[in-house]
Amino acid sequence: MSFALLYSRSLARSVAGLSARAPLVRAIGASLGLLGGLLGEMILRAVPKQRTSHSKKRKRMTTKGLKNRQDLTPCLGCGRPKPIAHICHDCYVDIRRKLKAMKRATE
Ligand SMILES: [Zn+2]
Repeated sequence: MSFALLYSRSLARSVAGLSARAPLVRAIGASLGLLGGLLGEMILRAVPKQRTSHSKKRKRMTTKGLKNRQDLTPCLGCGRPKPIAHICHDCYVDIRRKLKAMKRATE
């Protein structure tokens, strides 16, 4: 495969990407002045050479699976599990609701 063919392919992809973002590119170019305006039209973006297959994507993601959390502790207020050194969400919602009710009562 010749360099010219590779270059034209990447250019075609970049132009396709640019058409969707043309107003943004033009705005960036305009904000940079005349030189930026010239450069803004010539921005080429990095584009993957080939599409990543479903199989390859899934193989890569196998190392990123869900793991059991070891940093949970029971809340002292309600007993539900919560992350260590965090406020229990259920207790927080309960306190917030009570405070709003008190605020409404005083108004
Ligand atoms: Zn709680």
